[in-house]
Amino acid sequence: VSEHDVFVYDNPTDLAADVCGSLRPLLVGLDIDGVLAPIVDHADDATLTPGVLDIISDLAEVTPLAVVSGRDLAGIEARFAFPPSILVVGSHGAEERGHPVRLDGAEQDRLASLLELALTAARRAGEGAWVEQKPAAAALHVRLADPGRGLEALTWFEHAAGRVEGATAKAGHQVLEALVRPASKALAMAALRREVGAACALFVGDDVTDEEVFASFGDNDFTVRVGGGDTAARHRLANPLAVHDFLAALRATLGHDSHRLQDS
Ligand SMILES: [Mg+2]
Repeated sequence: VSEHDVFVYDNPTDLAADVCGSLRPLLVGLDIDGVLAPIVDHADDATLTPGVLDIISDLAEVTPLAVVSGRDLAGIEARFAFPPSILVVGSHGAEERGHPVRLDGAEQDRLASLLELALTAARRAGEGAWVEQKPAAAALHVRLADPGRGLEALTWFEHAAGRVEGATAKAGHQVLEALVRPASKALAMAALRREVGAACALFVGDDVTDEEVFASFGDNDFTVRVGGGDTAARHRLANPLAVHDFLAALRATLGHDSHRLQDS
């Protein structure tokens, strides 16, 4: 084990106490897969960690809270029962609950080209690979394909999508997604921050697309990476169970603060 493979994890309760001492309003941003839900082979099988929906629903009553995912919005709504008080952002920031995606003619043509390339890439990866069509993107999944062929297909798709003018590629765990327009979780969090007038923001994520959010945050903000891997985040939690414990501790303290404010 090299020095770079040893990660120091924060204690969830201590981290929650730090966050509670921050400026208000506090905007809470949470990735879904690998953060609120353990990673599974097929995204359709993912479920939230037991208890976490109640915790974030309560948190959303006392502070602005957003779930920000690479999943498309329809998929999030069909799979998870986030209440109206929770802000929901899908497709890496390209879709927000209450604001449907409308593609112009050029974007529709671009989506057709990207889908065709993704299908070609899936054939290169062979058995186990599949293509997901989203409202503004085509995604190639190779988690269940042969690792060597899967990697080759992801690289091929990234290069091919890069030659489609106006397209943006995003890499994740065994997946590459090509979007028809610029979008990122960092842009989405910046927009939400303005929308709710946040003085401070917290973001919890586990993947390369979350690193853009971490890099965009300032000194007063909180950045939390879940699991190992290189990161720009300043804090780290071990796994979705640690995230659950962190959010439970945050609810206990923030909920208590808000009751105190109402009493005084
Ligand atoms: Mg994730």
